Amino acid sequence: MAASLDDMFSLCVDPGKAASSVEVRFIDNLKGKGLFAKKSIKKGDTIFIERPLVSAQFLWNDLYKYKACEYCLRALETAEENARRLSGNPALSLPHAELCCVHPELHQACPQCQVMYCSSECRQAAADQYHRVLCLGPSQDDPSHPINKLKNTWRSMHYPPETSSIMLMAKMVAAVKQAKDKAHWQKLFSHFCSRTANEEEEIAHKLLGEQFRGQLAVLNGLFTAALYDDHLSRWFVPEGFCSLFALVGTNGQGIGTSSLSQWVHGCDALELPTQQREQLDSFIDQLYKDIEKGHCFISVLQCFLE
Ligand SMILES: [Zn+2]
Ligand SMILES: [Zn+2]
Repeated sequence: MAASLDDMFSLCVDPGKAASSVEVRFIDNLKGKGLFAKKSIKKGDTIFIERPLVSAQFLWNDLYKYKACEYCLRALETAEENARRLSGNPALSLPHAELCCVHPELHQACPQCQVMYCSSECRQAAADQYHRVLCLGPSQDDPSHPINKLKNTWRSMHYPPETSSIMLMAKMVAAVKQAKDKAHWQKLFSHFCSRTANEEEEIAHKLLGEQFRGQLAVLNGLFTAALYDDHLSRWFVPEGFCSLFALVGTNGQGIGTSSLSQWVHGCDALELPTQQREQLDSFIDQLYKDIEKGHCFISVLQCFLE
């Protein structure tokens, strides 16, 4: 989820650069706010890089062991590991392996639950923001833990291709629970486009899928059992829970992270003699063909990540 109007650029890596390229304007009550260019932007330009307010990996994607940093979602699998797994060829070796952006030597696990991060910075940021509340410690794989019950129930209602995760909502609650300045976080979340109760209910049902229309109350119960907090009691009553759903349904975005596609971009940018360029291009073409051929099922599960 991206930040609100007031804080829009404060979460950007370079707020000044973002503010010189684009501006946020209010469109209308239905669309909410929109982003408008302030100058002409060339194809391929990076307009801005923004840290998410909260982010969470899709839960089926996680179950199927697509390894991503728990905080920033960067791939933890090297381009070569990714290519081997997706092509089903364990002997595959990628040329120009130095172009892979994944650095396994920097990866760190939470010492209590062993959840993985791409760096000590991400591990610390997660711990500071929400992970102290959400760390399951030795119960990480215990299906009877309230958080795992919530995840499993969500998976049973929300099959791939996934569009959202109940853990986004859990992280929002955890961030407020952990924060010293709870009002700051509540204000950040309250800035998002809000709708009438009827519209929110429609969005929540759409997110959940037609066949699970009646199941919002089940998730509400599990969510409350896992995360209830007095400061946030309004998010746990049915109307508030529905609003939370609508908030995530309208403001959440699916993003893709793939070490293999980053490696391919790196290869595309290499300056090579004609013959080597042709060899590399045909290697990449063949690799994509092998991936398509062998692993349709996995590709479907990862359609937001490839
Ligand atoms: Zn990370
Ligand atoms: Zn942990």
